[in-house]
Amino acid sequence: MKTFKIAALAGDGIGPEVMREAIKVLRLTETKFGFRLDLAEAPVGWAGIDAAGKALPDATLALCKSSDAILFGSVGLPDRDPTIPKAERPERAALLRIRKEFGLFANLRPVQLPKALAHACPLSKERQGGGIDILVVRELTGGLYFGQPKKTEDIAGGQRAIDTMVYTTPEIERIAHVAFKAARLRRKKVTSIDKANVLENGVLWREVVTRTGQQYPDVTLEHMFVDNGAMQLVLRPTQFDVMLCENMFGDILSDEAAALAGSLGMLPSASLGVTSGEKTFGFYEPAGGTAPDIAGKNLANPLAQILSAALMLRHSFGLNEAAAAIEAAVKNAITAGHRTGDIFSPGEPNARKIGTREMGDAVAAAI
Ligand code: NAD
Repeated sequence: MKTFKIAALAGDGIGPEVMREAIKVLRLTETKFGFRLDLAEAPVGWAGIDAAGKALPDATLALCKSSDAILFGSVGLPDRDPTIPKAERPERAALLRIRKEFGLFANLRPVQLPKALAHACPLSKERQGGGIDILVVRELTGGLYFGQPKKTEDIAGGQRAIDTMVYTTPEIERIAHVAFKAARLRRKKVTSIDKANVLENGVLWREVVTRTGQQYPDVTLEHMFVDNGAMQLVLRPTQFDVMLCENMFGDILSDEAAALAGSLGMLPSASLGVTSGEKTFGFYEPAGGTAPDIAGKNLANPLAQILSAALMLRHSFGLNEAAAAIEAAVKNAITAGHRTGDIFSPGEPNARKIGTREMGDAVAAAI
């Protein structure tokens, strides 16, 4: 029987509560679809600091290295931040370290607004069309966030801050391949975002994406300037299937797209590293944070964590059927009227407000 090794790092705040529900659902797919998940849990974030003095304890990192994928909750507790130096805080010492350690260069953020949750979207029903379904593919390790030189220096009359935007042909090619391949599994359209009218990087980005796209004749490619992309997301979001973005544009547009889904509690994400053989190492986590305001109260929406587990089955293990079953079960639970507080609207007919555990049960029952 095929076996896949998972490092499950729940982290802080709502992390452990939502992770519990994701594991519950994963265990059911294991039985139903006939594969084995060798899943080991380990502390990270403040839980790591409390257990072993470090946000990413050595044993946790070792577990990640011996696993096929990481299923991650979230880390960070703002109240405790002042007690340690910035560099040791979970967001840097755990999250950024993992990204770097595993060369996670591709960030995938699917944004879906099911019709049943139209009320949670800030756009009018007309603009939502038949439902929003966008995949933002963001380059994660290059561009303006990492280019050198990067510094602030003193000059006459003040200071000068320098950030450098750098992309190479291979960096653009590999993220473009991720976008085109993802589009093949969806509605076969890629909108590549750039600023080719002003930036040298934009010109190279457009050239390389166009050339790479020629290997995918079944996928329609269009190019859009980032400022127009930001506007079109609000005006006509239904025109987008896959949006391919460099690092900073993707950072901004993925959050803008996320707002369309109504709640952070609904949004999963995948960060992928290089593929070796049939396996792609990946890091899967909800788009939201530790939500300290609702932690430990059975109020958090576990769907983002459950959908992150589905992305893991699809992108790291190639278990497409099991992933689709989880996604369909989530849709069923929503269509049946199950709502955690973040997606509940008092006037909605047939909707029932439930807790984290009950939402996990509703998805599990629909598998
Ligand atoms: P947050 O995403 O934790 O919370 C923002 C708002 O969204 C809150 O009102 C929260 O209740 C709500 N929310 C988030 N997830 C939800 C869910 N699953 N169900 C229902 N409601 C949900 O952002 P924040 O408050 O700015 O950050 C809190 C902590 O999380 C900080 O320490 C921050 O650094 C950290 N953080 C971590 C990650 C990560 O681990 N990847 C990401 C973002 C923020």
